[in-house]
Amino acid sequence: MSRIIDENNYYGGQQDVTEAVKIRLYPTEEQEKKINQNIGNRGFIWNKLLGKIKHENVKPTQKNLNKILNELKIKYPFLKKSESSSRQQVYRDLIKAYNKHKKEKNAGFPKFKSKKNPNISFRIQANNNNIHLNERKNRIQVPTIGKIKFKTSKEHKQKIQESKINNITIKLENGIYYGIININTKHKPMKKQYHAVGIDIGIRRPLTCSDGLKMEELDLTQEEKNIKYYQRKMRKKEPGSRRYRIAKEKYNKAMNKKINKKNDQYHKITHHIVKNNDIIALETLNIKGWFKNKRWAPKLQRISLYEIMRQLKYKSQQNNRKLIQVGRFFPSSQKCSNCGYQYTDLKLGEEEWICPECGKHHDRDLNASINIKNEGLRLILEEIIKTIP
Ligand SMILES: [Zn+2]
Repeated sequence: MSRIIDENNYYGGQQDVTEAVKIRLYPTEEQEKKINQNIGNRGFIWNKLLGKIKHENVKPTQKNLNKILNELKIKYPFLKKSESSSRQQVYRDLIKAYNKHKKEKNAGFPKFKSKKNPNISFRIQANNNNIHLNERKNRIQVPTIGKIKFKTSKEHKQKIQESKINNITIKLENGIYYGIININTKHKPMKKQYHAVGIDIGIRRPLTCSDGLKMEELDLTQEEKNIKYYQRKMRKKEPGSRRYRIAKEKYNKAMNKKINKKNDQYHKITHHIVKNNDIIALETLNIKGWFKNKRWAPKLQRISLYEIMRQLKYKSQQNNRKLIQVGRFFPSSQKCSNCGYQYTDLKLGEEEWICPECGKHHDRDLNASINIKNEGLRLILEEIIKTIP
């Protein structure tokens, strides 16, 4: 089965988009305490409500959960330290997770928060300008927490200032506080290019484009070495001691460095692809299935193909690009993109092959990406033909 995901107006002008801007927060000690209280409260409410659903057969409706929440608030006064919309957000998230579990086979039942599965964030809805930047644009006002110092690029500051803020999620990631600000913004899509591209996404080489652009796996050996080094150091120190905290801070830094390096590479390449092409064809991947292969799993974890797909999807949507997914069983690798011959003997390890029919020498992934592009274009044509009366 093939389908076209992105049916938005193809050649539009300016449009409203919701966007998330992530900023680094520098809370004071006092603010940090308040943030941690909010994060803790979210986990607490989550577990209490989930307990009612799981063990007392409470139906997870907004009305039921809101009633329980009101009772909890009386019983546990510390919950009042959270802003009211952030408390309500917990049951909204819980209902969403529950419905997802009901609808999708693969989505498990919502899990309790614990040391192993900690709650690390909370969200506050914006209302009456209660979330806003100060005049100098170096602090953000957040209800119940106060004016928190933050850093981000000039462009991001400008964007936040000029947009309508919908909500803020405050998150603790590897020991660092972030604010993820959801905004409504006017977005001017990128220029039309009259170009199409096919992309082969894979384990051996994460990304190969039909125009010859390739992305190899980034060498993160040094970053991983650093992470392991500080991990070992932490193990040797007494948890909670000053030396432990110093090692943990260094470990967090190393971890963030690795993540940023990878994200940077992905953002650069997905930006380039979306900028230069109006039609982007991808394969429907069975990444979940690949994860079952024990040999592939660590590498899959490392290269996070989901992140590449996520970026391509949202950037396409923002820029009126057509993103097309060709069917999972489309034989993209075996088909000769030059003459159409089906080379059914192609082995998994064969990175290059010569077509027995036309003699063309193929790079396996490049050949696949050209086939994906052609199949994508064929599908678009099919869609257009269907609309002709
Ligand atoms: Zn051929």
